[in-house]
Amino acid sequence: MTNQILINGRDDPKLHFVLVPLMAQGHTIPMIDMARLLASRGVHVSVITTPVNAARIKTVIERVKASLLSIEFVPLPFPCSAVGLPKGCENIDTLPSKDHLQSFLDACALLREPLILHLKEQRLNPSCIISDVWHTWTGDVAQEFRIPRFAFNGFGGFSLLCRHIILTNELHKKTSDEMEVIVMPGFPHHLELLKAQMPGSFGGQGMEKFAEELKADQQRFDGMLVNSFDDLEALYIESFQKAIGKKVWTIGPMSLYNKDVADMAARGNLASIDENHCLRWLDSMKPNSVIYVSFGSIASPIFPQLVEIGLGLEASNHPFIWVIRAGDKSPEVEKWLSEGFEERVRSRGLIIRGWAPQVMILSHPAIGGFMTHCGWNSTLEGVTAGVPMVTWPHFAEQFVNEKLLVEVLKIGVAVGVKKMTRWGVESSEVLVKKDDVQKAVSTLMDEGKDGVERRKRAREMGEKARKAMEEGGSSCENMTLLIKQVQTDMLKLA
Ligand code: UDP
Repeated sequence: MTNQILINGRDDPKLHFVLVPLMAQGHTIPMIDMARLLASRGVHVSVITTPVNAARIKTVIERVKASLLSIEFVPLPFPCSAVGLPKGCENIDTLPSKDHLQSFLDACALLREPLILHLKEQRLNPSCIISDVWHTWTGDVAQEFRIPRFAFNGFGGFSLLCRHIILTNELHKKTSDEMEVIVMPGFPHHLELLKAQMPGSFGGQGMEKFAEELKADQQRFDGMLVNSFDDLEALYIESFQKAIGKKVWTIGPMSLYNKDVADMAARGNLASIDENHCLRWLDSMKPNSVIYVSFGSIASPIFPQLVEIGLGLEASNHPFIWVIRAGDKSPEVEKWLSEGFEERVRSRGLIIRGWAPQVMILSHPAIGGFMTHCGWNSTLEGVTAGVPMVTWPHFAEQFVNEKLLVEVLKIGVAVGVKKMTRWGVESSEVLVKKDDVQKAVSTLMDEGKDGVERRKRAREMGEKARKAMEEGGSSCENMTLLIKQVQTDMLKLA
């Protein structure tokens, strides 16, 4: 009987889902939420990781153990030396430069045999693999076990469709003028982007082989999972589904799995601030008064840009939480903060150096706005929290997410940046000045008619996000359908 569970009242063999996240915060965090959502439905889940990544998420692993959810974390040794990566370079945010990305992906692909071996040794056969869309090699593992494989894509439906249209029409090759306005042909409504803001192929130069692999893999996987919900993106998901000819399930916002403070605070890296101190600070602020400023796990503005952000926040006169990932810029940043800035904003500014408990902060009633780089997780977490956003995209598909927030949902105020920063290549340019930061924050936090309406729209969308994950909600139903499909496939194979 130990191998049996009841799903929807039927006595079926226990399902075993193997989750293979990409080792990058924006990809791993939602897949760990996914693991917990699946396990809470009675599915046994193996999460494939590596020793360095397992050490980082130690608190999450401990919390999962304490929750008695049937999740096993499997750290497979990561073959850095085989591909010439420095020892311990097991996460995209630890790569010395973007030039090492292909080597990193080659090392990931070398996990194929160890994973097959591990699964063969396990008592419970795998029922399906859910792997990051970047892990194309997991298609071979699924084939070995004759099980379905679903690709998890860390983008939202709006940007997936947009990117698909750009690549199939080769729009990025049509002009060399970065400021040319390009209209997306076949998009469900009028949408234009500057050439400079278009997400191209993954990784760009030097990554052509990988871009081809991704394209070929689209024919191979059995469906795609997206962290989104129908009320937000059904229109784009439907078109994207048609375009790729594969089922796309919306199963989010998965961050809503985290109901209690300790779970929220433990997401991703260990937080650089004591969560109770952070909560006490938020409790001391008025509802909807604080702006939370963070640019995710990869973007890292240059020092002069950080100064402009700080001065803009100061000039706005609003309370703020500012997350600074200074890295090797720390000494000059610390010097500047200590030379008066921190003292001047002491009564209304909280600076987090490093990793913030983002979802915990966003869910606090004192938060009234979010200045974001528009990474998809942050975008969705802001939508879920029901807060309006100042949009400041940096690279990848972030400019497209900005369009969704500002032009479609009308819950965002653009800071006005037009050009992409290249990931891993520090631009010496200050793209946004203090006055623009101040203006965007003041517009967002304004309590006039426009501000009130924007806030109302954001709150309503946050409500819809919560409904999607409740029993009977679209994302909750989609997860049930996904589990049922795997169950049916498994019974056919038995
Ligand atoms: N995050 C966090 N604390 C931080 C920075 C980021 O918890 O200090 C989380 C954030 O909540 C989100 C993820 O890291 O879930 C970042 O993903 P996103 O897609 O927004 O951006 P990326 O980091 O991939 O650019």
